[in-house]
Formats: sequence, C-alpha cells, structure tokens
Amino acid sequence: MYDFRVTDQGGRPARPTRSESREAIALRALKDSHPELAEAVEMHLELVEMYRRVQGRVPLPSLEISSDILKRHAAEARPLLRFEDIPIDLTDLRLLVRQTADILRRHGALDDRDYQRVQALGRDMTLLAAVGDWYRSVSEAHAIASVGASPAGAALTDADAAVVGQVMGLAMRPYLSRCAEVLQQREELGQWMHPHCGLCGGEPDFAVITPAAERHLICGRCTLRWKYEPLTCPYCQNAERTRITSFATPDGQYRVYACDVCRRYLKAYDGRRASRPVMPMVDTVATLPLDAAAMQRGYSS
Ligand SMILES: [Zn+2]
Ligand SMILES: [Zn+2]
Repeated sequence: MYDFRVTDQGGRPARPTRSESREAIALRALKDSHPELAEAVEMHLELVEMYRRVQGRVPLPSLEISSDILKRHAAEARPLLRFEDIPIDLTDLRLLVRQTADILRRHGALDDRDYQRVQALGRDMTLLAAVGDWYRSVSEAHAIASVGASPAGAALTDADAAVVGQVMGLAMRPYLSRCAEVLQQREELGQWMHPHCGLCGGEPDFAVITPAAERHLICGRCTLRWKYEPLTCPYCQNAERTRITSFATPDGQYRVYACDVCRRYLKAYDGRRASRPVMPMVDTVATLPLDAAAMQRGYSS
C-alpha cells in the first residue's frame, strides 16, 4: 500500500524542513552563482546554523546607558561594554567554542595543533578567564587607565593568540551582537566619530555605503555599525584622498578602500544599488576574490 504522505513529500523539490535564516538563503544563492566559493560558503552555513541554535537563548544585556554616559564615552573614545556586562552562559559558550573549532577544522581553517589547543580551552574551567582576556585586550586598549597593564593572555605567542582570537571572535558573536543591538538603537551613537567600535572597541572589518552615500563601519567583533568619514582610513586615520586607492567589483556591488600609508584595506557593500541589506556573514565570503585582488596589490586586511 502506498503511503501518500511520503509520496507527496517525495514529489516536491528538496527543501529544508525548518525555515532558514536570510543569511543561509543568501549563502546558498552565492554558492549557486559562485561555485568556486563553495568551501567557504559551507563553513559559513555551519556557523550561521550554530548561531541560530543559540541566538534565541541569549538575553539582552542590562546596560546602563543614559545620554550622559553615552556622551562621556564618545568624548573619551572609550568603548561602552564591560566584559562583566556581557550576558554569557558558560555552558553555551563552552559549546560554541568547541563547535566553532570543529567547524573550522572540518573546512581546513584550523590545523590539528591549533584545534587541540582550542578544544582544551573549551573544556577548561579557565575558559571564562581566557575569553575575558581576549575581550579586554581590545576593549581596554582604548582606556587610559589600562595602559601598561598586561593581560594574562600575553603569555600566548602571537600566532597562538591569533588562533584563539579567531575562534573566540566567532564563538562570542551571538553575545556581542546581542549587546550591539541595544546600542544600535540609540541616536547618540551618531556622536561616536572614532575609528574603533563604540561598544567593544573592536576594529571595523567591513563597511556599508548607505543610500545617502555615507560610509558606516561594521565592527569585526560585535557587528555594531557607525558612521565614519567616507575616505579616511580607519586603521591609521590617513585622510589624504590621493593616498587612498579605491576600486569596485565590475557589478559595483562591493568596493575596496586601500590605504597607501598603512597598506591596510577595508571592504564595503554598496547599499546604493542593493536589493538587500548588508550581511557580514555573507558579504565577507562573497568578497573573498576582492581580498585576493587587494593582497595582490600589496595590501593586507
Ligand atoms: Zn564592537
Ligand atoms: Zn591607513
């Protein structure tokens, strides 16, 4: 006898049973149009799915942010979010760290030695201390009081710190982006004119050009967006237009600003001719060929 239910399902095109996030849909579309990016797309699909599983459980932080506090922080160029204010659930974070390491290794972005190091960190009771060091090493670099202080993480070699930092950055994303949602709503964010993030102190690692032709930087740690001078390098603050090289993809969708003083570059999504908003998890993958082009010209990220 036929099972009509099964037959009926079999007749439909293959679809995931749960609704997918916009990022996942955009990533799949990217893979269809650019098969050469398949490996990077697959890795980001897994990260996006991992975030989706945990996102609903991450509470909004209770941040004390009166207008006065926001003004003072903007005047002092001091990031707002203290590590203690991040609503971390240690069980979830441990899982996020281990799963991030699994995903990176599966896609060849982490070698065995680095994988073991990160897995040990995920098991270890000192995870919270390690993630605190990672967070503060950037956020407090902008606080005058911490000059000369040496975080415990300084014992790591630069290469180890870079690996741990990469994994921490991905694993902490659900918490930090939730905190960024709170500040993103505030109109006082318009007073923040600095090249580093007003929430966590992170560097921008992407940008978006708005329909009004403003450039908004996007924090590489928490994804906060803030307005910044369209042609000033956020890494060294070189504002000499003749020393900024800018080039775009043939379709005009993405742009690179490369600085001829510090030799670093920043990629941007051009929202003036876009059918969707910027999505850092998608657009960083879509612009991998631009990274190659920028590096070929002698710039670094
Ligand atoms: Zn940030
Ligand atoms: Zn520069």
